[in-house]
Amino acid sequence: MTPINSTGYDLKATSFKPEKKEGIKANSKEKVMSLFEDVTPFDWEDWKWQYSKRIRSKEVLKKIVNLTSSEEKGIDLSGEKLTMAIPPYVASLIDANDPNCPIRRQAIPLASELDISEDEMQDPCAEEAYSPVHGLVHRYPDRVLFLVNEMCAMYCRHCTRSRMVGDGSKGKGFNLKTYDAAFEYIKAHKEIRDVLISGGDPLLLSDQILESIIKRLKNIEHVELVRIGTRVPVTLPQRITEELVSMLKKYSPVWISIHFNHPKEITKRVKFACDLLADSGIPLGSQTVLLRGINDDPVIMKKLMQELLKIRVRPYYLYQCDPIMGSKHFRVPVAVGINIIEKLRGHTSGYAVPIFVVDVPGGGGKIPLGPEYVISKNDEGYTFRNHDNEQFFYRDPK
Ligand code: SF4
Repeated sequence: MTPINSTGYDLKATSFKPEKKEGIKANSKEKVMSLFEDVTPFDWEDWKWQYSKRIRSKEVLKKIVNLTSSEEKGIDLSGEKLTMAIPPYVASLIDANDPNCPIRRQAIPLASELDISEDEMQDPCAEEAYSPVHGLVHRYPDRVLFLVNEMCAMYCRHCTRSRMVGDGSKGKGFNLKTYDAAFEYIKAHKEIRDVLISGGDPLLLSDQILESIIKRLKNIEHVELVRIGTRVPVTLPQRITEELVSMLKKYSPVWISIHFNHPKEITKRVKFACDLLADSGIPLGSQTVLLRGINDDPVIMKKLMQELLKIRVRPYYLYQCDPIMGSKHFRVPVAVGINIIEKLRGHTSGYAVPIFVVDVPGGGGKIPLGPEYVISKNDEGYTFRNHDNEQFFYRDPK
């Protein structure tokens, strides 16, 4: 009989090797497992094991990755800014010999993180300024961002919230008591119809605590939409258990936005996690951050968007990387993002084209950007260009 653990994942399938994409060599699961004594495939499929065994030191990482001097320095010095934590599952996807491996670039700090540019900020989107109570950001009229914890499975080096995420080290503190003020605010503001639960990563909360949050939100009459923003299906897919999915299903609709940045992240294991969610009728969208040397290439981005559709995740936003402290090595000019949209729109399924946005510094919100398709306009109508640069006239109705 095929062994099944609480995630419902077929353990025979855990011996899969990550697919080699874009010519990138993969580390191996077996090599990472050898770091731990007496580890079994059941342990590997247990999200709490994965979480508790995250790689946090240079000494351990060196056993499976040929670290560059910049990475070594980054690990030594980045702790106060944004700690390093890499689940064994993610480590198994890292190319041991390629410093440009897209998973590696997102997981392992570089010395460049300590290089701060003039335009960089702790809180570029001014979330603190738009926070009426602890843990709530109210920037748009009918929706709020509800931050419920500060922990993540992996600390992404480009994180917009690097000022506050970490394993309890930033002193912000979120717990059931601190949620009360947020619930009171949402109840008192009848214009709020949409709540995005984020963090940190809300899916690192226990099923019980997450359920209590969703239930309280669903009991507020004017809250029509509850969304969860998470990276866990990518960095800790074992967390997507049948129990979690059954709980979420009870409160349908709960929308989930998943942070994906590269096609290499879409493994068979991630597909399994997304299938569990999608099979339960949970609508899935993706959010992607445009990152230098990782996905700033129209070919890679098209592949990512097409692969997302294959696992039933609808590309939603492509973000210009926010100017957080020490992010210069990740950021590319806005024109790069516009060019990527130009190469997607009309060249692949419309469902595979996200909205490219700049979350403008100072709290101005998301500004959508894209190529210009209007060539000229007169009293009769518009001259447009299409994706092949052919021009067409559209007569406006009188
Ligand atoms: S999972 Fe999201 S919040 Fe956490 S470190 Fe990564 S980008 Fe930041």
